[in-house]
Amino acid sequence: MKELREQIDSIYNYFKNNDEQDTELNKMFLKVIEGITDKLEEIQVNLENLDENISYLNEDLSDIQEDIFEEVTLEELEAYEDEYIEVTCNNCNKAAFIEKSALENNKLIPCPFCNNNLK
Ligand SMILES: [Zn+2]
Repeated sequence: MKELREQIDSIYNYFKNNDEQDTELNKMFLKVIEGITDKLEEIQVNLENLDENISYLNEDLSDIQEDIFEEVTLEELEAYEDEYIEVTCNNCNKAAFIEKSALENNKLIPCPFCNNNLK
């Protein structure tokens, strides 16, 4: 981008300093180059802002990742697994893992395989 900018600047200066070529076409050309230079500057600023935003986003993401992995310890995971009970269906004889609280709070626990009540 910097190199391109320098090339455009040198073309611009060449036409600007060349008085013999002070024609309408020359003026138009200078105007176009000015426009391109302005646009380039705008794009560069936008790119820098984007870069900055992306690095903020990356920081936020790693904060979130840290939070997720910090908050669930191995003990907590094991405790979570303890909340499920393996129940074997009387009807189809398949084993299903049912949440302990669901077993305690519901009279009807349908078997995920045959819909038979597991309680
Ligand atoms: Zn069943």
